[in-house]
Amino acid sequence: MDAADIGSDLKNVLISEEQLQAKLAQIAAEIDRDYAGKDLLLVGVLKGALMVMADLSRHMHIHAPMDWMAVSSYGSGTKSSGVVRILKDLDTDIKGRDVLIVEDIIDSGLTLSWLIANLKSREPASVHIAAMLRKPDAMKVDIDVKYLGFDIPNEFVIGYGLDYAEKYRNLPFVGTLAPHMYQ
Ligand code: IMP
Ligand code: MG
Repeated sequence: MDAADIGSDLKNVLISEEQLQAKLAQIAAEIDRDYAGKDLLLVGVLKGALMVMADLSRHMHIHAPMDWMAVSSYGSGTKSSGVVRILKDLDTDIKGRDVLIVEDIIDSGLTLSWLIANLKSREPASVHIAAMLRKPDAMKVDIDVKYLGFDIPNEFVIGYGLDYAEKYRNLPFVGTLAPHMYQ
């Protein structure tokens, strides 16, 4: 799927496919270096992180075992509430392992801050975060992001795993949804 397929649903392309891939290659090189010789486990947060996970791990040269969690933050439309429910837990015991959470976007940060606390209680050796996007103006809690793709304005974005009503995840770029789509 590309911009031409969704016409006026798209306000503009915010981060192109080339920009995303160049950044992921750079982050993957840092991860290769930082996690060499460690017991790395990538933990993806479904469903948004699927594209980041797929591309980031393929840019990496070290092994990239992965596991997935699905969480739902109670709330509706385009806002998160911070009350989180686990829909799918990890298959793996993370005790003693070096966990790297792979996320599509940090908006309020509420989901991620809950997830970090949850994973830390399982006694991993370490927990860090790799996030493709962050909205600094929307953040309600302070989160230490070890690997960050891009800071973006506080607007609702779609594409590259991010959806609106389960659509647009399969766009290769990150774009801004036209306001008429959700107002
Ligand atoms: P947070 O708890 O507010 O940081 O955001 C939780 C989740 O909401 C993210 O992991 C995304 O799945 C989703 N989300 C936040 N902002 C956007 C957006 O602009 N577009 C699509 N999904 C978003
Ligand atoms: Mg997400």
